[in-house]
Amino acid sequence: MNTLSNRIKSIPESETLAMAARARQMKEKGIEVISLSLGEPDFKTPKHIQEGAIEAINSEKYFAYPPVNGYLDLRQAISEKFKRDNGLDYSADQIVVSNGAKQSIANVFMAILNPGDEVIVLTPYWVSYSAMILLAEGTPVFVQGTIENDFKATADQIREAITDKTKAIIFSSPCNPTGSVFTRAELESIANVLKEREDITIISDEIYELINFGAKHESIGTIGGLLDRTVTVNGFSKGFAMTGWRVGYIGAPLWIAKAANKMQGQYTSGNCSIAQRAALAALKGSMEPSMEMTKAYEKRRALVYDLLKEIPGFEVNMPQGAFYFFPNVRYYLGKSHGDMKIETVSDLCMYLLEDAHVSLVTGEAFGDPECLRLSYAASEEELKTAIAKVKESLAKLS
Ligand code: PMP
Ligand code: GLU
Repeated sequence: MNTLSNRIKSIPESETLAMAARARQMKEKGIEVISLSLGEPDFKTPKHIQEGAIEAINSEKYFAYPPVNGYLDLRQAISEKFKRDNGLDYSADQIVVSNGAKQSIANVFMAILNPGDEVIVLTPYWVSYSAMILLAEGTPVFVQGTIENDFKATADQIREAITDKTKAIIFSSPCNPTGSVFTRAELESIANVLKEREDITIISDEIYELINFGAKHESIGTIGGLLDRTVTVNGFSKGFAMTGWRVGYIGAPLWIAKAANKMQGQYTSGNCSIAQRAALAALKGSMEPSMEMTKAYEKRRALVYDLLKEIPGFEVNMPQGAFYFFPNVRYYLGKSHGDMKIETVSDLCMYLLEDAHVSLVTGEAFGDPECLRLSYAASEEELKTAIAKVKESLAKLS
């Protein structure tokens, strides 16, 4: 009776969403919580994108089931975007539009993994990769980057992790949670290792492409010979401030695109018609609002870096993209305040939620139990107040 499947029992709840829910509950009780846990732009979706959705409703043309893999004109626009911005040649039938990049990635794992297949996950990694691999009955193999090398796993580490069972490798650049961005040279050295094994599928999550403060965005699929086994993941949530609209996509080898389409056809059908029309307006319209948002994140990054540097025991590196800091906070492990003993970074995050009323996410959820993640997709005022409160609460620990 009431027996859950081993499948669902094998995965934890999404820690980013769980922390956001805890913060929301406290807010509902009237407690003022500053939420720096969820990675979601605090900007409004640009007007021309909103108009795209409004026009779609008013036209009364988009109320029926859309094609499972997305409207053809949207897939064509994505195909053009891949060519223009990334130098990636995926035709419209190699594109699958989904309910957020989250579903895009889940589709790919469900499409390619058999029980026991290993997936190399460059770590720290985005929270849901490991759970999605487990749900598809694969085995995540974590290859750890550390703060000393900007959290970037090296080609040699990847070579050592490859076994006969390796089926795929996944990483994000710009990276959630570290903000690190792989350079062309780093991607080339990883590519050289992967070229030794043609059966490994590469999943390159580029959803933070537009939030990059440094070098030009590079896609591993542009490196000679890799495109026909590279799945490039992208979406509208971050760069266009469209988290709630739920539109993500892949460009993929045709056999994977067809399988993702089949998977989606049985599970959810095509992504919301109106959201797809808004996404098309995003691709056809001005990039100015996205560039403005990135400028604002860059300004906040400088502010937050200076403030975090002043907190005793926080080891901080300078992220090059996305909107997260991922400080190492091992200094606080073993300390306590009253009855509250900090054994893990999860304890530390709970303490800061209770005492400072600031929500953050433990690094454990991203594969590094000595770090925590702070999203700076919040106003400068909120960031200043939150970090001052965190500093004050941390000073009580001894
Ligand atoms: N990949 C990464 C690295 C992310 O941070 C996110 C955040 N949600 C996603 C994929 C999924 O994004 P969405 O489903 O909102 O498109
Ligand atoms: N990607 C965001 C984050 O990492 C949104 C939350 C989620 O989808 O897990 O916080």
